[in-house]
Amino acid sequence: MNTIKQLHHFIHGHDVPGAGARWADVFNPASGMVAARVPLACAEETRKAIAAAAAALPEWANTSPLRRARILFKFRELLERNLDVLAAIITAEHGKVLADAKGEIIRGMEVVEFACGIPHLLKGEMSDQIGTGIDSWSIRQPVGVCAGITPFNFPVMVPMWMFPVALACGNTFVLKPSERDPSASLFMAELLARADLPKGVFNVINGDKEAVDTLLTDPRVAAISFVGSTPIAEYIYATGSAHGKRVQALGGAKNHMVVMPDADLDQSVDALIGAAYGSAGERCMAISVAVAVGAVADPLVAALAKRTRALKIGPGTEPSMEMGPLVTRQHLDKVRGYVDQGVAEGAELVVDGRGLSVPGHEGGYFLGGCLFDKVTADMRIYREEIFGPVLCVVRVPDFDTAVSLINAHEFGNGVAVFTRSGNTAREFARRIQVGMVGINVPIPVPMAFHSFGGWKRSLFGDHSIHGPEGVRFYTRLKTVTERWPQDIAGAASFVMPTH
Ligand code: NAD
Repeated sequence: MNTIKQLHHFIHGHDVPGAGARWADVFNPASGMVAARVPLACAEETRKAIAAAAAALPEWANTSPLRRARILFKFRELLERNLDVLAAIITAEHGKVLADAKGEIIRGMEVVEFACGIPHLLKGEMSDQIGTGIDSWSIRQPVGVCAGITPFNFPVMVPMWMFPVALACGNTFVLKPSERDPSASLFMAELLARADLPKGVFNVINGDKEAVDTLLTDPRVAAISFVGSTPIAEYIYATGSAHGKRVQALGGAKNHMVVMPDADLDQSVDALIGAAYGSAGERCMAISVAVAVGAVADPLVAALAKRTRALKIGPGTEPSMEMGPLVTRQHLDKVRGYVDQGVAEGAELVVDGRGLSVPGHEGGYFLGGCLFDKVTADMRIYREEIFGPVLCVVRVPDFDTAVSLINAHEFGNGVAVFTRSGNTAREFARRIQVGMVGINVPIPVPMAFHSFGGWKRSLFGDHSIHGPEGVRFYTRLKTVTERWPQDIAGAASFVMPTH
């Protein structure tokens, strides 16, 4: 008997079965078993989702921001009520521990809360009497059909960086979630429908490159938001822009945390352990490089090694676990390959997690925490994003070398410094070429009412995501200049008006 769940698309308010021949397996990473099968949409199916969003656009764009916000208020309440259900869906397909899954939902809900303030956020600017009897004002209008293409590592939070703001601004939306953990997006679509979102305003198309390429080239799509790895982000940005679309494409990361000799060692170690190994390192804001300045290196590595060996690793459904499995067998092999590579490159593998086996879960994609010391800037384990539970320690002599090291890296997503010196912290924040900076905060993810985005090859496009930048991205500026003629003697003017 075949009991494997068949997933679907969500178009015009309905679950739509996959019509094509292409399907992918979705795994439970804690067991290695197939949990569901997801349809991979062909171009024609993707165009149906775009058509639904395009048809719903005029009425939704014309709905008052206040009414749009009220639907988002209801959606927020439904998210809160269904927190446990949604967290279980995340853990079943992603593998992260349940408490962490709840954390990502709450961070996503905060974007919904921000978007509920849209009547205020869309207030334009007005200038009275810019000339005699003339006023001028600017308004922000929806861009149209928007598409979101999202990664596996935050199946709820990352889509919610996008669609609550897009919908609040009056756009309609097509979401193409990761094919590795698509069920959470389908559940959010159901909650939006229960919140009385009109049909066609939010659609989910499951798939891979074929669906993405259709979204990137269809003339009805006006804007693309992407979050994922850097090579794909660059491709999305180039292709979407070449097809006349507004694009924001957030890419990969290699986040450093500088530990100064004056830092509180216990706090620094706690911060590094959580930030490096939480969610098995599958976070775009995970710390993957600890930069040990001066004499702090030896005690730091000793303390990290002890804690790394003690990590509690097992299925995310067990409340005592600190770290779950990696997302797929293929990803596990890739991360293991990086550990092999680091050893071959001459870095010192202080803690080797490659031999880990979790009793009762031998088929799961588990890897123990790995800690490298004496990593240098020319090594691949330093230059490339590993996206797993692997922390590299780079030893540097002083603060200036730490800053130069980080500024020379191709990625610029997040960074942190741990120090007791206000001046060091201030200098660091000013000089570092990274978009999100933590001072004694290891994972400085901006709150929903700020905006999230890296620099350099961690973000392609002009806008960060959510917060005020999100409102700018999902709206177009229009400026109106108005005069109501009274007794003006008409005469054509052929010169630039001055006032
Ligand atoms: P990914 O780039 O493999 O996939 C992201 C999305 O792109 C998925 O929806 C996927 O279906 C689609 N895609 C994959 N290959 C494609 C192709 N050839 N053409 C068109 N579309 C394609 O990323 P992932 O493995 O799902 O996620 C992990 C990556 O995401 C990491 O690099 C991580 O740093 C990054 N990430 C970045 C941020 C950020 O804010 N900068 C946040 C989360 C994740």
